[in-house]
Amino acid sequence: MREGEEKELTAYCGLYCADCIHFQNKHSKLAGQLKETLENIDFQSYASVKSPFGSEFQQYDVFLTVLEALISHSCSEGCRTGEGCSEEPCQIIQCCKEKGYEGCWECGTFEACEKFECLKPRCEASVMHNLKEIRENGFEGWSKRRRPIYNWQQM
Ligand code: SF4
Ligand code: SF4
Repeated sequence: MREGEEKELTAYCGLYCADCIHFQNKHSKLAGQLKETLENIDFQSYASVKSPFGSEFQQYDVFLTVLEALISHSCSEGCRTGEGCSEEPCQIIQCCKEKGYEGCWECGTFEACEKFECLKPRCEASVMHNLKEIRENGFEGWSKRRRPIYNWQQM
């Protein structure tokens, strides 16, 4: 790991950007290629015809919505250098900056913080584990002891 990389990849909330499914993903590029391929053969017209052959394509508009979401799912910079992981301003970043913290591990109340609500469905276990890890054992080398990012992944 090059010098400074660990800090660059550590988000204010305690997530490790290199583990994130958005970060340097391969699926956005592939989804873009699939979209282009389907447009070149006007697959939408084929899908719009009600026919007993390929009746599953009646759901084509839903598929396109998901395809667009996959295309825009990439993130080339981490939280700290890219100023956030979505287009919404992040309350966690704003709060840390206002308080002069490098991250929420410097905050005495992170266990009860309501600003983590948006992360709970997918990353609650990781956020809490990582913040405690940094608070208790220090920042240097903490990423070697991090938890996998998503709730459904095992230690
Ligand atoms: S933008 Fe906010 S929620 Fe996303 S990784 Fe950074 S601190 Fe965490
Ligand atoms: S209140 Fe503390 S834990 Fe919550 S976002 Fe602000 S710095 Fe992080």
